[in-house]
Amino acid sequence: MKLAKRVASLTPSTTLAITAKAKELKAAGYDVIGLGAGEPDFNTPQHIIDAAVKAMNEGHTKYTPSGGLPALKTEIIKKFAKDQQLQYEPSEIIVCVGAKHALYTLFQVILDEGDEVIIPTPYWVSYPEQVKLAGGVPVYVEGLEKNEFKITPEQLKAAITERTKAVIINSPSNPTGMIYTEEELKALGEVCLEHDILIVSDEIYEKLVYGNAKHVSIAQLSPELKAQTIIINGLSKSHSMTGWRIGYAAGNKEIIKAMTDLASHSTSNPTSIAQYAAIAAYSGPQEPVEEMRQAFEERLNIIYEKLVQIPGFTCVKPQGAFYLFPNVREAARMAGYDTVDGFVAALLEEANVALVPGSGFGAPDNVRLSYATSLDVLEKAVERIKQFMENKL
Ligand code: PLP
Repeated sequence: MKLAKRVASLTPSTTLAITAKAKELKAAGYDVIGLGAGEPDFNTPQHIIDAAVKAMNEGHTKYTPSGGLPALKTEIIKKFAKDQQLQYEPSEIIVCVGAKHALYTLFQVILDEGDEVIIPTPYWVSYPEQVKLAGGVPVYVEGLEKNEFKITPEQLKAAITERTKAVIINSPSNPTGMIYTEEELKALGEVCLEHDILIVSDEIYEKLVYGNAKHVSIAQLSPELKAQTIIINGLSKSHSMTGWRIGYAAGNKEIIKAMTDLASHSTSNPTSIAQYAAIAAYSGPQEPVEEMRQAFEERLNIIYEKLVQIPGFTCVKPQGAFYLFPNVREAARMAGYDTVDGFVAALLEEANVALVPGSGFGAPDNVRLSYATSLDVLEKAVERIKQFMENKL
């Protein structure tokens, strides 16, 4: 069977490849520590689970409107008003099957064949693939490590062509954990307004912010920027609800309507029960969100200090999300490997620690470690990496 051209160039996720190899070793009896996780290690808060059970018992097990339950849209609107002082109408919101699906649907409705989307590197692995699946062309702009992996307005301007349709801003970022400041966003926003480029602002890690850093949405900065931006967000990371698959998009009515029409022919609607759970997540107590944030921050502060003591490891300290993204080019060289990919493979085989190579995120000198796992496990993993390096020197 010949598959469609559309999927011929689809690159399988590097995160999944390393996870598969780690699983293989585990099955063979090795004590492998996996630091590839892209999801919080906490359970979904109990009151959210209870709300889902209640919804089922009350018979809310049927189709819902394609764009999401009106009551959930109301909660999302309240959240935007409270957290970002942004006012949206229900017609400017669509609830999707996770933020990933919101992004997928968005690219399907805004891109024609050959339209370009500017993707700052390092990027979340799904952006380029989703753009390509919609017929678009990813245009990469390098967020330099010396600039905390963030792109500048000059770089953005230089990447714009006649075909540029959108730019993706992911702050806090997966994989770097970096956050754009208000001033930086304003400057990037001006370029987007000047060239009429849609801003896709992926704010899924909004609630996971540490130290003095502050999350600001680019849409908050002016009415013009709000009109130019589609915000993508969801409950996966904030409320530890990855498996429930609830995310959303907010912005221009026409775009949201097109996305809703497309959803009506693809998913019909996000799972009804999960939507009721999401209503409880947003309308109920927010303490669990803050408790999880604090746990991540504690881990970050402890593990960061230990990580940068490993020979050859340098790391810009993340300000958000739950990943560390050290540069290990020098460590790989010191240990006798030509590439970071080779170094990562050896770490897995010999030290039994699974990291994700940065090549999959468009940053081949780096590796991603997730700290969405217990402190004990993290400390053990870092110790193993340190031992591995010391044995090689
Ligand atoms: N955006 C970024 C940057 C992510 O890291 C993820 C998940 O890993 C998502 C979006 C998708 O989240 P979900 O589809 O679970 O809502």
